Amino acid sequence: MRFTIRDDSSNVQNLDGIVVFIFDDMSTEGLNPSIKKKLLDIRSRNVFHGKSGEVYTTFINSGKFKTNPKTLFFSGLGKREDFGAEKIRLSSGMVTQKITYEGLSNIAVDLNSIIPSLNSQVLGQSITEGFLLSDYRFDRFKSSKKSEKDKNRINEVVVCVRSKFSNGVKKGITLGKIFSDGTNYARDLINIPSNEKRPPVLASMVRRMALREGLRCKILDEKQIKDLKMSAFLAVARGSSAPPRLVVIEYGDTKKTRPISFVGKGITFDTGGISVKPSSGMENMTTDMSGSAAVFGAMKSIAQLKPKVPVVGIGVLAENMLGGNATRPGDIVRSMKGTTIEIHNTDAEGRLVLADGLHYAKTKYKPQCMINLATLTGACMVALGTNLTGMYGTHDELIERVREQGDFAGDHVWHMPLHAEFGKMMKGKIADLCNISGVRWGGANSAAAFLQHFTVGTPWVHLDIAGPSHVSKRKEYKPAGGTGVGTRILTGLAKDWKRLNAQKGKAFGT
Ligand SMILES: [Zn+2]
Repeated sequence: MRFTIRDDSSNVQNLDGIVVFIFDDMSTEGLNPSIKKKLLDIRSRNVFHGKSGEVYTTFINSGKFKTNPKTLFFSGLGKREDFGAEKIRLSSGMVTQKITYEGLSNIAVDLNSIIPSLNSQVLGQSITEGFLLSDYRFDRFKSSKKSEKDKNRINEVVVCVRSKFSNGVKKGITLGKIFSDGTNYARDLINIPSNEKRPPVLASMVRRMALREGLRCKILDEKQIKDLKMSAFLAVARGSSAPPRLVVIEYGDTKKTRPISFVGKGITFDTGGISVKPSSGMENMTTDMSGSAAVFGAMKSIAQLKPKVPVVGIGVLAENMLGGNATRPGDIVRSMKGTTIEIHNTDAEGRLVLADGLHYAKTKYKPQCMINLATLTGACMVALGTNLTGMYGTHDELIERVREQGDFAGDHVWHMPLHAEFGKMMKGKIADLCNISGVRWGGANSAAAFLQHFTVGTPWVHLDIAGPSHVSKRKEYKPAGGTGVGTRILTGLAKDWKRLNAQKGKAFGT
């Protein structure tokens, strides 16, 4: 999909159609005369109300379009006072589906009616994201020919905007492409079936991406993981014939400046281990590496953005299977930190791999902050539903930065509690810690408290993405499958890190 900018929306003779965004007050301000006439007609017939996500498809054959009629899409934005990046992303995502359905490939998007309502760069970025994220498809396992698959794809989006705004919109389009590229890459990794992405295979796949993007990438194999004494991580991988991998990607000079760090849970398939899961819905466990996918996707975007802070992205990859060598409930392991852990439930494996992943990030890089993402607990979905990410953290400023990025990206997070009682629930009977609390209530909180033990001293945020990591049915700009949730949060954090520090006039955390 190509994006270009033009300043005149009536000069669209060689295109197939036009998109116009409309608020629910149905105002015609800023519209060119023939489009205005059409909207007034539709308004009088009461068939379109400008609600968020609503799209009305019609034809325009008056005024300048008389000789060459066009398909016209009115795309609703909802209330003017609620307007923001996510509203335009949702609306662009919906209209992308309609354009594809109509089989049109070259489209004008007329921004002149809404441009004064939002920063032009934000507008450019969110429209681009809406189109690119909505247009995503995962069809590499379909046998049909390439030409067949490319049918009904949008070729070109011509953004029409007055020239004084075009620079901002242009910058926004560039950002939107970069943010979408990382997110769609994360979606690809999540959607690949587990037999095609066992840890060593996934690690090589990611390394190829990293090298292509000019990043440094290190892969630690099972021997190196053993040498580092990461027995919590190893315990999860023991039941599988595929060995674990620790993937470490670096951007910028991590030796000269302390980096910011991201750590992702990467369980390429989760059977639950000996504490095996029920079979219904188990096929979705292919998405249990969504946390590491978001980290890898963000690193891809960061390589293109080139922010002024070094970043290290770590994926802790293992397959949680049953086998003769699998970890048993009741086993005790010693983590890289030296903490002993009783494993009472082998399905609570995400916290085990993250315990070692976080400790590795902390001791190896002394990062300014650590953010981990994980499809960690069903309890978080019980608490927050499937749309919200549960956020835990030990550092107010970091929490605030993550929340702002979440709101901007439309990947909304909800701040959850880390009270001392949850830490107490994770104490072991004969070892230091136990990997489950043994209490039915507050499971997402006690899991977070377990992770907290391995992050003490470093500003840290944990994002439990079990709910929003995938959708079974398409939503506005999220096709069914992995959503890549969190990718744009991490990318945005790296993008704004230096600027926010400068605004404060001192280094982060001081
Ligand atoms: Zn599990």
